[in-house]
Amino acid sequence: ESKRVTQLTGQLRNKQQQAEILMQSISDGIIVIDTEGKISLLNPAAAKMMGWAVDEAMGIDVNLVVKLLQEDGKELAPEQDPFKQILRTGQQNNSVVQLIERGGIGDHHIVSLVVSPILTPKGSELLGAIAVFRDVSAARQEEHRRADFISTASHEMRTPVAAIEGYLALALNDRVAKIDQKAREYLIKAHESTQHLGKLFQDLLTSAKAEDGRLVNHPVVVEMGTYLRQITDGLRFAAEKKGLLMDFTIGTGDGENKVTSGKVITPLYYTHIDPDRMREVITNLFDNAVKYTESGKIVIGLTGDKDVVQFFIRDTGNGIPADDIPHLFQKFYRVDNSTTRTIGGTGLGLFICRKIVEIYHGRIWVESTPGKGSTFYINIPRLSNQKATQLQTAEKQVVIG
Ligand code: ADP
Repeated sequence: ESKRVTQLTGQLRNKQQQAEILMQSISDGIIVIDTEGKISLLNPAAAKMMGWAVDEAMGIDVNLVVKLLQEDGKELAPEQDPFKQILRTGQQNNSVVQLIERGGIGDHHIVSLVVSPILTPKGSELLGAIAVFRDVSAARQEEHRRADFISTASHEMRTPVAAIEGYLALALNDRVAKIDQKAREYLIKAHESTQHLGKLFQDLLTSAKAEDGRLVNHPVVVEMGTYLRQITDGLRFAAEKKGLLMDFTIGTGDGENKVTSGKVITPLYYTHIDPDRMREVITNLFDNAVKYTESGKIVIGLTGDKDVVQFFIRDTGNGIPADDIPHLFQKFYRVDNSTTRTIGGTGLGLFICRKIVEIYHGRIWVESTPGKGSTFYINIPRLSNQKATQLQTAEKQVVIG
């Protein structure tokens, strides 16, 4: 009997040693906190990242030891704090943040941070949380270099492509050049391909900038009702040219509170966005709606609630298979079917849309029924009328000053 006890304690000690070795030697930082946010365990890698000694940090409030900023160096709002968040919700959270060493000395690390709950075996009660830090600074730098290369390259290539396109247009112009019918056919094809190439470089440039956080962005207060109506009017022609109807609605559902009736009082939906950037998003979604719709109608709509402004672009086109939807907003993703094979595209449009919407802490998604049509939705935080007026006054002062 006593032999078994020794054996068991030996095994236990062994397990403990193994855990110890794991914690000591792993290069990811690990911090365990209790339900009050006090540090109950941290490994040397974590201590080194924060610039603390292991013994020193034990028992101290995690927010005093782990100083975080958003990835771009901006302050982290209290509700974004991953430690406060997990103690409040008990839900795992992932983020990429900047980690500042004690006293602000040394390099800032960009870390990917995963905070998971520690639950009682039955999973009913939160005992604390475990945070794993991985330094991704080097990987991020590499990404920046790559994006930089792509944006320089596509910028350089746009110039000669524009020249080729210009000369092809000249060759196709009766007043300056004489060519026979066969040559004209070939040149028209070449001209179309060059235009496509130009668009591809433009999209590559935009998406490299978007990945790098270098998209020009001057947000102002925008009232979405007026803004979307103007955009719709600007786009109407392109839809009607293909024989598609074009409509704009404000309200909760299709056709409800139609603006054209002119009598209903529609709420003012204020947002804080760069109108040029958002126009790119809407134009992109609209161009897709036209491209992938043979007949019927395109509706641009606007609804919202207290906190959110929601607008959508709906078409009666061929729709998107459910299997493709999760990948749609990734770079270069195109649905592979007979339509997309004949209709040109770069597969970058929706990726760029997502990146722009994310600048404004918004969300973009699609609902679609194959054969019936698709609706692309965008949610953007709504500004209260009061906040909008405040910001507008500040904007005017900037212009005058
Ligand atoms: P592309 O340049 O190919 O249009 P996007 O990123 O804009 O690239 O769109 C990705 C793919 O999503 C398209 O290739 C198309 O298959 C699909 N898609 C986008 N919008 C629609 C739509 N309104 N209706 C049907 N399919 C769509």
